[in-house]
Amino acid sequence: MRVSDLCFGSLPFSRAHYNVSPDDSAYVIDFAWDMGVNFFDTADFYDTYAHLKKVAKREGSVIASRSFAFDREGMRRSLDRARRELGRDTLDIFGLHEQESALTLKGHREALEYLVREKERGTVRAIAVSTHTVDCVRAAATMSEVDIIFAILNVEGLGIRGGCRADMEKALELAWNCGKGIYLMKALGGGHLYSQARRALEYVRDFPHKHSVAVGMHTPYEVQFAARVFAREEPPAEEISGGPHPRRLVIEDWCEGCGQCVEACDFGALSMGEGRPRVAPAKCVLCGYCAKVCPHFCLKVM
Ligand code: SF4
Ligand code: SF4
Repeated sequence: MRVSDLCFGSLPFSRAHYNVSPDDSAYVIDFAWDMGVNFFDTADFYDTYAHLKKVAKREGSVIASRSFAFDREGMRRSLDRARRELGRDTLDIFGLHEQESALTLKGHREALEYLVREKERGTVRAIAVSTHTVDCVRAAATMSEVDIIFAILNVEGLGIRGGCRADMEKALELAWNCGKGIYLMKALGGGHLYSQARRALEYVRDFPHKHSVAVGMHTPYEVQFAARVFAREEPPAEEISGGPHPRRLVIEDWCEGCGQCVEACDFGALSMGEGRPRVAPAKCVLCGYCAKVCPHFCLKVM
């Protein structure tokens, strides 16, 4: 499997972020393809399979996805959905979404074993684990079922759990030495590093123990900016200024104060106050995971 240094992260197209339709996203994806990007990242929860269906058919494209499923039946449904909606018999990379530790990996064993069998059947080429946690990288590094680790890393260490940037660098080095495929997420700290985007992208570009870096993008400007940094060419500016930045988590007025989003945030960025959730911007990595659980679609990263 050959992947471009820059991976196109499709989370910004999702309903939890900019809510870009498949039609409106097509030219951005084509632009990235023309810039040499062949690696596209999505997930069951992003709901962006329709956006990537066209590029998934191109020869040489590599699509990665994953699911929160923890049992066999849930993983079967997720994998079937991905294959159906992407129009692929075989998915390049599929795996477990957002694992926290060796313990949660154990708790997902049934789903993982299902993927191992699907890999033997040829419907999946490689099995991945995504995580924000240092311990989980260490645990997955020595698991024979796991081919690829998708982990958080950025120049300021934002959003890394269970350790600092240096701890994550060491864990990734261990995984690299164990022969795992590695790609990185949150290079721009979920948007917090837009004002120093060049420095942030150069750091992950030059980090030696990885095969690719997923950058969430939804405009040609962002694609061009990242592609130029990865090609060691002069970017248009020091910071990404082609979009409505800085981004933040928006809570709509019709929130009913049920508190489900507070429980869903693993970063301690949400708390309840006067019947509504409150965001601590310094802790929020703008992942949009809280938006997934809101029954009234009140949350959006914009
Ligand atoms: S508040 Fe929401 S967007 Fe921010 S870190 Fe928590 S789950 Fe992610
Ligand atoms: S889950 Fe939605 S409705 Fe419930 S508190 Fe959070 S934003 Fe409000």
